[in-house]
Amino acid sequence: MKFVYDFTEGNKDLKDLLGGKGANLAEMTNLGLPVPPGFTITTEACKVYLESGEEPAALRDEVSAHLAALEERMGKKLGQADDPLLVSVRSGAKFSMPGMMDTVLNIGLSDKSVQGLAKQAGDDRFAWDSYRRLIQMFGKTVLGVDGELFEDALEAAKAAKKVTVDTELEAADLKKLVTKFKKIVKTEAGRDFPQDPREQMDLAIKAVFDSWNGDRAKLYRRQERIPHDLGTAVNVCSMVFGNLGPDSGTGVAFTRDPASGHQGVYGDYLQNAQGEDVVAGIRNTVPLAELERIDKNSYDQLMQIMETLENHYKDLCDIEFTIERGRLWMLQTRVGKRTAGAAFRIATQLVDQGLIDEAEALTRVNGAQLAQLMFPRFDENAKVEQVGRGIAASPGAAVGKAVFDSYTAVKWSRSGEKVILIRRETNPDDLDGMIAAEGILTSRGGKTSHAAVVARGMGKTCVCGAEELEVDTKRRRMTVPGGRVVEEGDLISIDGSTGKVYLGEVPVVPSPVVEYFEGRMHPGADDADELVEAVHRMMAFADRKRRLRVRANADNAEDALRARRFGAQGIGLCRTEHMFLGDRRELVERLILADTENEREECLKALLPQQKQDFVELFEAMDGLPVTIRLLDPPLHEFLPDITELSVRVALAESRQEPHENDLRLLQAVHRLHEQNPMLGLRGVRLGLVIPGLFTMQVRAIAEAAAERRAAKGDPRAEVMIPLVGTVQELEIVREEADRVIAEVQEATGTELKLAIGTMIELPRAALTAGQIAEAAEFFSFGTNDLTQTVWGFSRDDVEASFFTAYLEKGIFGVSPFETIDKDGVGSLVELAARAGRTTRPDLKLGVCGEHGGDPESVHFFHEVGLDYVSCSPFRIPVARLEAGRAAV
Ligand code: ADP
Ligand code: MG
Ligand code: MG
Repeated sequence: MKFVYDFTEGNKDLKDLLGGKGANLAEMTNLGLPVPPGFTITTEACKVYLESGEEPAALRDEVSAHLAALEERMGKKLGQADDPLLVSVRSGAKFSMPGMMDTVLNIGLSDKSVQGLAKQAGDDRFAWDSYRRLIQMFGKTVLGVDGELFEDALEAAKAAKKVTVDTELEAADLKKLVTKFKKIVKTEAGRDFPQDPREQMDLAIKAVFDSWNGDRAKLYRRQERIPHDLGTAVNVCSMVFGNLGPDSGTGVAFTRDPASGHQGVYGDYLQNAQGEDVVAGIRNTVPLAELERIDKNSYDQLMQIMETLENHYKDLCDIEFTIERGRLWMLQTRVGKRTAGAAFRIATQLVDQGLIDEAEALTRVNGAQLAQLMFPRFDENAKVEQVGRGIAASPGAAVGKAVFDSYTAVKWSRSGEKVILIRRETNPDDLDGMIAAEGILTSRGGKTSHAAVVARGMGKTCVCGAEELEVDTKRRRMTVPGGRVVEEGDLISIDGSTGKVYLGEVPVVPSPVVEYFEGRMHPGADDADELVEAVHRMMAFADRKRRLRVRANADNAEDALRARRFGAQGIGLCRTEHMFLGDRRELVERLILADTENEREECLKALLPQQKQDFVELFEAMDGLPVTIRLLDPPLHEFLPDITELSVRVALAESRQEPHENDLRLLQAVHRLHEQNPMLGLRGVRLGLVIPGLFTMQVRAIAEAAAERRAAKGDPRAEVMIPLVGTVQELEIVREEADRVIAEVQEATGTELKLAIGTMIELPRAALTAGQIAEAAEFFSFGTNDLTQTVWGFSRDDVEASFFTAYLEKGIFGVSPFETIDKDGVGSLVELAARAGRTTRPDLKLGVCGEHGGDPESVHFFHEVGLDYVSCSPFRIPVARLEAGRAAV
């Protein structure tokens, strides 16, 4: 196996092997751009080292051979006393990762070669500045010395000289600083700073390997779901110097604005500086445009190179460059990060420029970005007072009064106040408070903390781990940097998309993207901004490309109409349970309590016209599109009053000797229907089989509503869906009765209704016997929420707040299986059932109506296993459309 690649040997597609930085350095080298020569040690070498604890035997020789070739080419040897070749040792994994070892520059300098470098450059100051930087970086990142010790020493040197910036230190000062730095190394690391250049290089390489398993790197990988076994590459790159005087410098640039996507000159430049000085903010950088005045030649060349890179990568690139005495060198490029909005704009801009096609454009954006653009946001023009910043854990813009415990959160929100729940960290006891709050703010914990996981699950705004905020829950206050105190009841605003925390009430504006989907803003119209235009076009690309249809989970006409505006192609799940609540509750109670058939019939008769009216409205809203109606699903006792409340009422009435016969009967029914595990109890099809006439009434309501719409020249397309079926017999019994009722209604109204009857697949047994069930079902809709619960054997209502955080932290889940479908387990049942169902009935329609229908990764899975549609909540529809398009690319 080859462990070392010269920059001339690699290319941009070898990121797995060479890491992002190495692959792109090679790509630029091959494009003929000025890259200082060097070589890359592969991630394979790193993997061998991490597994065995030793560098692979061949590595040392290969490095020697490549170093020799580099020395030959540069005409000088690493660390050569009179004219040293210097190199940087740079980490570079496939994904850029904070927490990994930084770069060590100027390797090859020693007490001897620093003199040689000074002579060659004719610049003492430069040589000693480079040397002190080496000892500082090497000491910190390779030898593990606390970096502040060096910084303090540097500050002390500046203070002693009464200067403020490092460039004002002269050679003699820097020389002294080197002595000081070496002492720090000796005391802190217990060894001398190595004088042998090859030893410097080898130690730095090993340190890069080791940094892969640093605590922060591991944590970051867990959070970002980057596999732990990729390893990092190491780049050895000959040095060029931006610290050789005013005709030298270093800078960073974007080929276009990463916020708006606009083409132009975006970047920063710093004269007489090296490496990280630009981003470290130690001196004031100048806007890149000024480079034109400072060094026109280099500027023109840089603009040329940026164009080359954009045309080559066909995307926004960010770059790092250095100018050494008027000569431009490229040190890094990569496809640059961008905001969600810019991603949409850039993708369409590149299509317009003819650089990419529609399909490629779809790969440049994703549903998570679209979802982010759909949240309301803080008004950009508002005056704000930012007091902290944490991790953007769950997007949105939330404003409310500060409360420091769940009890208060619930109490205040009940009285109509908007509150932000502030905790050091949350635990399952805070659940009520989290539900009651507009947003959640914690001072501890990361993206997988309890607060973050639960908030994301609820779609609630959350900022976590805002460490500068001192939360004192006992005294119900929080101290912000600078000492100001936020008391309970003070207004604060939190931005879950940026992690920023503000004092006071920041005005919130609706997302222009939602305004567009709602039809209140039109692309091409004067008020439509570029973002809306870009989203509009990307949605069109996705719609042209996708095979999956997208339906909505909607229970009423209002939601159905919104869903339609958002692009829904029907309703995949209409839950009928809410149609039994409100003032109809009494009827339902009576139905449950009914002793005689007559009484029951009466209740059903009273419910029928009301149900029918619900459906008429729904069919009208969704005219011409399929509407899947699920017959009553939840356990009956959910329609009865709370057992404790009722008991109290009965006891009270008894003691006062007041009449309470009805309540007593009710209480008896509640007891009778009480179940230990209601979600595994009398619900779904079981209800339909046990309560005579219930499903019949619902089917009749659907059929009569359809007939009425027909008579009104509408085009109703109802689908009757039976929940919680475990065996085909259940379905057959319900179906027989349903067919009879439908026939009756057809007869009576003289209309042909063409109602489809199908079932949910949400129990493992249903999935396993899908071939049989398809005999009696015209469609399947996978209820992946219940299927996930029953396959894993855990209850969603309980576990998300209890042990999921621990599971996520331990890496048992990368993400909650209720959020993204568990492909291996639940997913393979879906696949199996889809195949078996279609074997029985080739035209079986297949859909999914769990929460997963709107989850990007899950949508791709459903595309792959050949479902016909996904169904999700109205607000997720655009996301599902986009991801369905992306899945088809
Ligand atoms: P990071 O991944 O943190 O960006 P880099 O490896 O890119 O780390 O290096 C950090 C800084 O050092 C960058 O500004 C880079 O331009 C500079 N640098 C790296 N190698 C060299 C080199 N051979 N000559 C001059 N500057 C270099
Ligand atoms: Mg860099
Ligand atoms: Mg279900």
